Amino acid sequence: MKLLEERILKDGNILGDNILKVDIFLTHQVDFQLMQEIGQVFADSYAQAGITKVVTIEASGIAPAIYSAQALNVPMIFAKKHKNITMTEGILTAEVYSFTKQVTSTVSIASKFLSKDDKVLIIDDFLANGQAAKGLIEIITQAGSQVVGVGIVIEKSFQDGRQVLEDMGVQVTSLARIKNFENGQLNFMEADA
Ligand code: 5GP
Repeated sequence: MKLLEERILKDGNILGDNILKVDIFLTHQVDFQLMQEIGQVFADSYAQAGITKVVTIEASGIAPAIYSAQALNVPMIFAKKHKNITMTEGILTAEVYSFTKQVTSTVSIASKFLSKDDKVLIIDDFLANGQAAKGLIEIITQAGSQVVGVGIVIEKSFQDGRQVLEDMGVQVTSLARIKNFENGQLNFMEADA
């Protein structure tokens, strides 16, 4: 997605060896117009797939996920990272190691929001080693729902995430694919949409 790549080049900051900071438009302050375009591209990519739910993980997946859900006209569910006393009914959980926080946490979705008839599109802001998406796939599978694909705003293709998800038999659609950060320069490879 050309518009997204241009925005990453303009506003992204490389931190250390392998982290990209995009808090100006995605992970802290959110550019809703760009998110709307992103949501439309994901919706177009999966228009024929019969998606019934969009699932993401809090917090930074929520913005692209809500616009994808709007464009597909289906509900959006976000997995919670912290247990909440209001979550009293059946809860589906998975353990997820956070790449940026370097801690493992239990993420959960109330089972009432997913059924055997659901066809799910997972959306997330970044793909690094695939652990967040893998945890979501585990939860969705526990519910008996089908994961149709994983839509990623920014994939760091030099990390293992895509391979992990494809090994699980899941299609990955990334709107920007970063090949490497070389001498502080960001290089893209061809994206999926
Ligand atoms: P994974 O689970 O694929 O290893 O990592 C993906 C998750 O870690 C995303 O949900 C995102 O929150 C966070 N993440 C991974 N890499 C980056 C990065 O380079 N920048 C930012 N801002 N978040 C990242």
